[in-house]
Amino acid sequence: MNRPLIAISGSIRRYDGTDRAGVNAAYARSIAQAGGIPIILTPAIGAEAAAQALAPVQGLILTGGHDVDPQHYEAPPSPALGPLDPARDDFELALFGAARQRKLPVLGICRGLQVINVALGGTLWQDLPSERPGAIQHDSEVSRNARTHHVLVKEPSHLAQALGTGKLVTNSFHHQAIRDLAPGLQVTAWAEDGVIEGVEETGTDGWLLAVQWHPEEFHQEPGSADQLLFHALVGAASASPGRRAGWETAPGRLHG
Ligand code: MN
Repeated sequence: MNRPLIAISGSIRRYDGTDRAGVNAAYARSIAQAGGIPIILTPAIGAEAAAQALAPVQGLILTGGHDVDPQHYEAPPSPALGPLDPARDDFELALFGAARQRKLPVLGICRGLQVINVALGGTLWQDLPSERPGAIQHDSEVSRNARTHHVLVKEPSHLAQALGTGKLVTNSFHHQAIRDLAPGLQVTAWAEDGVIEGVEETGTDGWLLAVQWHPEEFHQEPGSADQLLFHALVGAASASPGRRAGWETAPGRLHG
C-alpha cells in the first residue's frame, strides 16, 4: 500500500528554556498506526507558505492547543480566555484554507474543531465554566486517556460511520466549545449537557470531520472507536478526490 502523507499542525512551546517546534507524539503515532505517514508542520513556516507546505500531502490534522483569538470571530475577549498564539492562529487558518482549495480530507481535534468552526464563520464559548456552566466537567486534571464523559453521536452520520458506534465515553480537555455553528457544518456529536463534541461538513465533495475530544490519546487501543477516526482519515487521503466525491452517496467508501 502506498501510504498517504498526513500533515499534522504543530505548535511552538517553551520547554527546558528553549522554544521547541512539535506536536504531542500521540498524533503521529495514531496516524502511523492507521497506515499514514505523519508530517509535522510548524507555525514557523508562516501563513504565506502554508499552501506550499501542504503541497506534498494528502490529508491534514488540525490539533489541540491554545485558545483561538476571539478577534477571529469578532468577539471581545472574556476575562477567562486562556493564552493565545496569534502566529499559530494565522498559520492554521491558512493551512485550512489551502486544504479546502485542494479538497484535502481534514480531521480537526479539540482546538482544531474550534479553528474549523471559526474559519467557516462560527463562534466559540470562550470559557465553558463561566459562560455556559453545566453538569459535566470538560476540563479535569486527569490522565490524557481517562474517559470522563459520554458522547452521543448522530446516526447516521459520517462521524458515526468512522467511529463504528453512536455512543462512546471520551476524554475531555477543553474549556472552550462551539457556540454558534458555522454555515455548512452539521453537529454530529454532543455531550450529555448539550456541548458540541463533533461536527462534519456535508453537501460537498470534501471530507471534513472534527471532534472536541482527543482520540489520539488512545493510540494504545488500536481497535478503539477513537482510533478508527484516523483510519477513516487515512482511507479518505488514499482515495482520489474523484472517488471521495462519492462520500455523499456511497459512505461505505469512507474506509478507502
Ligand atoms: Mn468534552
